[in-house]
Amino acid sequence: MAILDLKHKLAILSDAAKYDASCASSGAEKRDSLGGKGVGSTEGMGICHAYAPDGRCISLLKILLTNFCIYDCAYCVNRVSSNVQRARFSVREVVDLTLNFYKRNYIEGLFLSSGVIRTGDYTMEEMVRVARSLRLDHDFRGYIHLKLIPEASPELAAEAGLYADRVSINVELPADESLAVLAPEKDAAGIKRAMGRMRLRIEDHAEPARKTGRRKFATGQSTQLIVGADAAKDGDILARSAALYGSYQLKRVYYSAFSPIPDGSARLPLSRPPLVREHRLYQADWLMRFYGFGQGEIVAPGQDLDLAVDPKTAWALRHRGDFPVDVNTADRETLLRTPGLGARGVDRILQARTQTRLTLDDVKRVCGSVKRAKPFIVTADWTPGAAVDSDDLRASLVAPQQLSLF
Ligand code: SF4
Repeated sequence: MAILDLKHKLAILSDAAKYDASCASSGAEKRDSLGGKGVGSTEGMGICHAYAPDGRCISLLKILLTNFCIYDCAYCVNRVSSNVQRARFSVREVVDLTLNFYKRNYIEGLFLSSGVIRTGDYTMEEMVRVARSLRLDHDFRGYIHLKLIPEASPELAAEAGLYADRVSINVELPADESLAVLAPEKDAAGIKRAMGRMRLRIEDHAEPARKTGRRKFATGQSTQLIVGADAAKDGDILARSAALYGSYQLKRVYYSAFSPIPDGSARLPLSRPPLVREHRLYQADWLMRFYGFGQGEIVAPGQDLDLAVDPKTAWALRHRGDFPVDVNTADRETLLRTPGLGARGVDRILQARTQTRLTLDDVKRVCGSVKRAKPFIVTADWTPGAAVDSDDLRASLVAPQQLSLF
């Protein structure tokens, strides 16, 4: 096998990592190297927080340690039967790349995942060595996200948590049955056990950190669900997310639209789902986490989200009898359910209306726009009349700007 130079390895192993959506550097402990101690920081000048519109963090050095893998997950370009070019970094190479890119201000931290080589323990140990060296040998204070290998020993996962800001274990497919078919070497029960153990460790470490102000463990875990590789509907995917949030206190569930891969299995779809589907799932996820919606209110199991309008608008159109709401009297929960009103806008409305009765212009001023909210709200000088019952209402709300968050 030809020996690859570092640049070539980087090209292969950063490209191979792009399929993993589960990274975000928000929520990291505040650390810096002001005063000449250590290298890097998780905040402040020189840190490029670059997020794609769907919320993906794009300013981390996001790589695989290796794209060799002994497993044969049908949806994965790195599976053992795949014909892709392989590469592997040494621990030292990843450490040096991270430090050098950080010092040049290319990145704010490291997202490290890997194919499984030899065993789960061997692979996890290599990844832990990277994080250990960055933290202990180089006093690296930037962000580190480590992907955990679920079958690795609990002790190695615990050590990973000592060095990482965030860890993640990918559930991958919304249904355990799909995982059994498409990734037969993976163990859905083992993945749940690993996530459960990590939840307990994070909680165990949270209390002392609260008291002393010093973090000694990862502050959270996340996961990724692949959308469109199996027959799961959006309602099934969101039901799985709701269960994951509840059971494992996840910080985030990331949704990654399935990408057809070269020489893919005949069991996989030939085309990727529309990107807007991934976007709608993120919007629905926000409704569950920040807007007080139950999963079943957004979309029923076995059904898909409406791709033409955002999930909150779709809900409002199904509940027209609850509208219009008076922004001068409605409670926070009701305002949060109103299309076009985001959480920050609602808080501003609640604050502003203690001073005066709000007009449509006032709402526009504090929320930035009333375009979508207008048919659903009453203000001191505006009522939509019968607009909320109009047959044309849905069509009037289907517009390119629907791709914006709420
Ligand atoms: S274990 Fe991970 S890297 Fe290996 S084939 Fe499965 S999804 Fe791909």
